[in-house]
Amino acid sequence: MSLISQANPQESTPPPKLRLEWYGVERYCVHCREYWPADNEFFRVRADDGKFSSWCRACEYEARNNKRRVKR
Ligand SMILES: [Zn+2]
Repeated sequence: MSLISQANPQESTPPPKLRLEWYGVERYCVHCREYWPADNEFFRVRADDGKFSSWCRACEYEARNNKRRVKR
């Protein structure tokens, strides 16, 4: 019983936005919860602050399509 309440503290903390892989830096997508290479091919650069978006391109594309579909 007490084992269940003693949850792993690492599970409740959000994952790091960036992680280092052998080939380079990966960025975490908060939508699909996957790591993707932190470059312009996988993440859109926001024009307002020059940083990578927190969603990967695939998720942004999907969200845009879904919005359009819901609207119509
Ligand atoms: Zn994603």
